[in-house]
Amino acid sequence: MTTIVEHHRILVGGTWAEPATTAVIEVVSPHSGEVIGRVPHAAPDDVDRAVAAARAAFDDGPWPRMSLAERAEIVTRIRDGLLARHKEIAELVTRQNGCPIAISPRGQALSAVAVFTAALAVAQALPAEEERAGLTGPMLVRREPVGVVAAITPWNVPQMLLAAKLAPALLAGCTVIAKPSPEAPLDAYVLAEVCAEAGLPDGVVSILPAGRETGAHLVAHPGVDKVAFTGSAAAGRQIMAAAAENLTRITLELGGKSAAILLEDADLDAAIPDLIAGAFVNNGQACVALTRILVPASRYDETADRLAAAVAALRVGDPLDPTTEIGPLVSEAQRTRVLDYIRLGLDEGAKPLAGGRVPEGLSGWYVEPTLFGDVDNGMRIAREEIFGPVVCLIRYADEDDAVRIANDSPFGLSGAVWAGDVTRGLDVARRIRTGTFTVNCRRFDVAGPFGGYKHSGIGREFGPEGYTAYLETKTVHLPKPPKD
Ligand code: NAD
Repeated sequence: MTTIVEHHRILVGGTWAEPATTAVIEVVSPHSGEVIGRVPHAAPDDVDRAVAAARAAFDDGPWPRMSLAERAEIVTRIRDGLLARHKEIAELVTRQNGCPIAISPRGQALSAVAVFTAALAVAQALPAEEERAGLTGPMLVRREPVGVVAAITPWNVPQMLLAAKLAPALLAGCTVIAKPSPEAPLDAYVLAEVCAEAGLPDGVVSILPAGRETGAHLVAHPGVDKVAFTGSAAAGRQIMAAAAENLTRITLELGGKSAAILLEDADLDAAIPDLIAGAFVNNGQACVALTRILVPASRYDETADRLAAAVAALRVGDPLDPTTEIGPLVSEAQRTRVLDYIRLGLDEGAKPLAGGRVPEGLSGWYVEPTLFGDVDNGMRIAREEIFGPVVCLIRYADEDDAVRIANDSPFGLSGAVWAGDVTRGLDVARRIRTGTFTVNCRRFDVAGPFGGYKHSGIGREFGPEGYTAYLETKTVHLPKPPKD
């Protein structure tokens, strides 16, 4: 029998409160279809209460006025609380979204802890005030918190993406209303419990699991100063339009269609395991997934055979089984979307090299990891974000052609190159219009700025760039020192 995780209250301004309505989110296992959790579905009235609490805490409360050292002490307690419960977080994430448990502890839970650790280091390294000479006289440049922050996150890496907003916002002195997605509210409750026990002043953190209607109410709220959003480009557009009304600041982390380029002299033995991991991580439900693999025509057949064998060998199954490499998609709707794209790929003339079906003997929302060959970069399967385990293999003529194809995308989130030597790979990296890129490796590092060019987003998370996104800059002009 499955244990059902139940919560009856929501965290509003750091206090456990009765929700405004009796609406409930039922969390369903993508593996078994069973209900695994029930939590309140926060309503617009709950948003209004949370914004009022956050506004009061920001405008009149101690949090933005504390020293960074005082805030860092409390944020460190939140980090340590998440570390102590990371196994529970990892299992909850796997049970909600199907991420294989082999990667959840590190990829889902400890990555959130690392985000806090990295943000603490960045904040402590950046002075809140600095004196500059100026042209006409001295000035003091101050960094001040941006205000009340709405943090809206998706279900695929739910804890880490909440941490990516909460950690820098809190350190900067902001107050936060987080809205986790309705598919993954259970791990957010662990964060809420940790925040409730960390010693934050009243009003500073609210965590309101809800769907897009409540999210839209939060984004449009005149009491919100900044929206930090991670999700689809479609929702990003709506959020940007809604934010325009109040000139609310925004950071948008959106989708991707990232290209991995294998150069003529790439070492396939080294590249293939990384390519498979990069393409199919989190069952292909990753914004940074390497979903277009660009191969020189001269090495196409060899690469296609080896990739097809590697994809067909991936172990699909129960995400709680530690040997599973590919779990189910998050929901029936997501599986329907992915299967529709697979049919579209066949209609467009792409050649199925591996997978493409619903696996037999599994009742959840599974799709076989799928590799399409003979893909033209103009096909919709090469242009649109599928957000599932579907990868396109694309031929190119020469290095310029590879760069052209990689850049010929509405998105610009990530990418990779495998080259005989790093210098040549770096030359390619410099020519690709994406926010992150890897050379002869597969890495994600929360110490480095992360974000998108083009339709992949606006602004950056992580690193000093991600921290300053929660700060306003004030210039105070000072009188010239008296002449002797
Ligand atoms: P989604 O855009 O449907 O929803 C994301 C979140 O936004 C959810 O909490 C949802 O309730 C909320 N939301 C949706 N519409 C809203 C609106 N109009 N106003 C306010 N809130 C709204 O995305 P999803 O299906 O949950 O997640 C998958 C998407 O997220 C993919 O496109 C993926 O690439 C992207 N993603 C991007 C990054 C990144 O850092 N760039 C990381 C992970 C996922």
